[in-house]
Amino acid sequence: MSIISRRLQPRLLRCRFSCPTTYILPGLRVCPFSNMASDNQGQTAASAYNPRYIDIGINLADPIFRGRYHGKQRHPDDLSAVISRAQEVGCQKLIVTGSDLTSSKKALELAKEYPGVVYTTAGIHPCSSSVFSSSRKPPASDNDEADGHSMPCDPDPTQPIPEDHEACPKRTAQVISSLRSLISEEQSSSSPTALVAFGEFGLDYDRLHYCSRKVQLHSFAAQLDLVLSMSPQLPLFLHSRAAHADFVALLKEKFGPRLEKLEKGGVVHSFTGTAEEMRELMDLGLYIGTNGCSFKTAENCEVVKEIKLDRLMLETDGPWCEVRPSHEGWKYLVSKINADREAAVAAAASTSGSTETRQAGETPVLAAATAALASTSLAPDSQASSTPGSASPNPATTTTTTTTTTTNSNGTNTPSSRAAGPKPRRKPATPQQQKKEPEVPERWKSVKKEKWVEGAMVKSRNEPCMIERVATVVAAVKGVSVEEVCEAAWENTSRVFKLD
Ligand SMILES: [Zn+2]
Repeated sequence: MSIISRRLQPRLLRCRFSCPTTYILPGLRVCPFSNMASDNQGQTAASAYNPRYIDIGINLADPIFRGRYHGKQRHPDDLSAVISRAQEVGCQKLIVTGSDLTSSKKALELAKEYPGVVYTTAGIHPCSSSVFSSSRKPPASDNDEADGHSMPCDPDPTQPIPEDHEACPKRTAQVISSLRSLISEEQSSSSPTALVAFGEFGLDYDRLHYCSRKVQLHSFAAQLDLVLSMSPQLPLFLHSRAAHADFVALLKEKFGPRLEKLEKGGVVHSFTGTAEEMRELMDLGLYIGTNGCSFKTAENCEVVKEIKLDRLMLETDGPWCEVRPSHEGWKYLVSKINADREAAVAAAASTSGSTETRQAGETPVLAAATAALASTSLAPDSQASSTPGSASPNPATTTTTTTTTTTNSNGTNTPSSRAAGPKPRRKPATPQQQKKEPEVPERWKSVKKEKWVEGAMVKSRNEPCMIERVATVVAAVKGVSVEEVCEAAWENTSRVFKLD
């Protein structure tokens, strides 16, 4: 091994965010998630930035975050771990979505458990709006509404669209009265309320199998009337999917052509519409919420590129809407990691001295850095990448660099002492294993719900700590820094929802 190889041998350390994938090269420590770069003495570079996030749309009232899936307890309640992980990445505040009366109440209960962290909305989602209909049997109990689960973000074309839905005046009066009481009680409470928005509500023509167009329009109109009748008004947390024309028309009908009567503004969350639609919403003074669903296609990303920073908000919409390898947005995560690697390599090369030369055939600096990063993300259950193999470390490099993984067998993060001392050699990866290597490192191991272990995330259950991926993609798509994205979203969200 040459001097360079020895000097560049990476050693894993944990960054101050407890990020397990921080690696160290001579003269430079790089955390691929936090934009943090600091020297070996721990002096943070002038550009150091601690991201801060507010997840404006997270369905934490969904029993899936208590380990319950469709009425069955599949693993222990791990809600507190979900919230801890969010805080570890800098996601300091969570606006928990109320999408029907039950989840709106549950969200408020959660807010009492996590004061200053959990805030809430209250409203009836378009897909839950059959409660306004005469054709729907009322739920036997509060817990009977769709097993308490929030609505998946994808349409289900196998489900038939009900034709017989009619709005029911009696049911409507009951639902609106319950919603009004819930909000009034919160607003008149002596202690400050965690309820910061009305919603989520709106229109969703992608999922008419949950509720007909006619009843959705009725539900949206009835709730907009409720907002208008209350003083003070709450900001709006809106949902619009494949329904833009009706959505905007109804908003204008109720609040005026420029939404003059809308006192506190609002956000159209989980935006997946066209650039033209988005511009119209921004022109009306509304904000645009982005999550993994906003990056599905190249067209979606082109729209995100055009969101003005002073109109941007960030969300995960967990447990739904994760950024997936099949999404266009995924490649922006991969290129961010590659850019961080190259920056680390350039810095390492500049501090390693120009007098040293690499022997022919030896491990290149880039391969060393790549292996360092790749070796941090090889948890056996890590998410497979969409382009297998391209991030695989050079096999020759693997034998000369650390092979430390970032998670214990029980899925918890390793302490930093794990980085010290000799490392066991990793068995050479089989082609199959190489195929599974992720291109985007994960901070925490992710396992199937049946294999849940303490400290692990659950595959396909999106959670608020993943908001950093949303910010990374938005920044890359827009060609601005993560800091600009985070700070703009933070300011916008704090201002509109009056968060402390
Ligand atoms: Zn929604």
